[in-house]
Amino acid sequence: MNKEEKKRLKRLGAAEVERQSQELRELARQANPARPGSDDWAKAYSVGVLKERALNAAPPDRLSAEQVARDFVLQTVPLTSLGNYTGMQGWYWECSRCRDVLHSSPSGPTQCTCGHIRVLPNLPGAKSNRLVKLIGRG
Ligand SMILES: [Zn+2]
Repeated sequence: MNKEEKKRLKRLGAAEVERQSQELRELARQANPARPGSDDWAKAYSVGVLKERALNAAPPDRLSAEQVARDFVLQTVPLTSLGNYTGMQGWYWECSRCRDVLHSSPSGPTQCTCGHIRVLPNLPGAKSNRLVKLIGRG
């Protein structure tokens, strides 16, 4: 790898870090739209954290689209570098049709309301759907 190639890759890496930072800031704003630093923001932050803690303490195999829309903002997990390893605590498959989310490593066979996706314990889900993490809404 020559010097120019190293510079090019460094610029690409910095641009990707910036893109991901902007995406996270936008998701945080969606999860808590109150003015940062305000009392409303602090209250909503606490509510969002409690939702995430409850979710992590007892991860459900399936959350309905309504529950997800009410309580969480979805952060896409990039599939490009994962290979077939997608069963992770805190990662869920979002059905591209009904928008239910299914835990990527459920306690038993699980399917969404419309039946488009079914996830079995310790097996990867269908990659035509989006793999997401859930951020608690305030
Ligand atoms: Zn579905």
